Amino acid sequence: MTPTGRFAPSPTGPLHAGSLVAALASWLDARAHGGRWLVRIEDVDTPRSVVGVDRIILAQLVMCGLLPDERPVWQSTRGDTYKKALQSLRDQMRVYPCGCSRRDIELAWEATGQVRMRHGELVYPGTCRHGLKGKQPRAWRLRCTNDDDSDLHIDWFDRRLGAQTQNVTQSIGDIVLQRSDGLWAYQMAVVVDDADQGVTHVVRGGDMTESTPRQIHLQRALGFSTPHYLHTPVVMAADGEKLSKQNGAAAIDVSQPLAALREAGAVLGVSSSGTTVADWLAGAVQAWAALYPPTSR
Ligand code: GLU
Repeated sequence: MTPTGRFAPSPTGPLHAGSLVAALASWLDARAHGGRWLVRIEDVDTPRSVVGVDRIILAQLVMCGLLPDERPVWQSTRGDTYKKALQSLRDQMRVYPCGCSRRDIELAWEATGQVRMRHGELVYPGTCRHGLKGKQPRAWRLRCTNDDDSDLHIDWFDRRLGAQTQNVTQSIGDIVLQRSDGLWAYQMAVVVDDADQGVTHVVRGGDMTESTPRQIHLQRALGFSTPHYLHTPVVMAADGEKLSKQNGAAAIDVSQPLAALREAGAVLGVSSSGTTVADWLAGAVQAWAALYPPTSR
């Protein structure tokens, strides 16, 4: 299998110093593996996607010398594929319709005298796991337990962070795959697309580390193999949050691509003496390979 990496931006804003780190890292890793590098526009969450930003991101990547090896893919065109995946999970009874609103979930926790949250998200308490009890179906959820209903622990390995483990049942709960508004959840789209595109090496921002165990669980349910993972350091904004458009991240200055690449390289611990974009990237591939030796499948 050809080593394959990808960069999967959500088109909510142009590339900034934080998102360039993920783009550069995934490109360096694909090149260090002598493999393919793909770009996938993650526009499943249509209300959050900004028209025209996909083209801006693609142009910014080109200016930084990061050219995809194949035509980019837009998730908004892939609904039929996600639908098939959901059907296969329905056939295996691994998913169930959920009738809970956010308020229902809050009330269910209040009734137990506690509220379990993780990063501002309520853990799903499993209310509809054994039937809708008269509620109208709103969303499709994936069971995140073992077959005997015991807690699901996922152990996995990150090439930068080392061995990781998560009790998905307790810390996340059953996840939504198709939302009540009919939109596909990011977790569903990313797992199906990574498998469909033959992605063997996922290199992405550290803010996604938390999502990896549930994605591995979904891969297993769908019979997909698990790629290698590496999560990069997260670039922080002055407010202590992850740098994002919301806290004022500026678009990278594509008139100075070398400066933008050097800054992203510094976050990754990668430097290069190259003084043109192409030379800088070539040197950075060597530095990357020394830090994160290529893995074989
Ligand atoms: N679309 C996600 C983002 O822009 C990245 C998802 C991924 O790389 O798996 O934050």
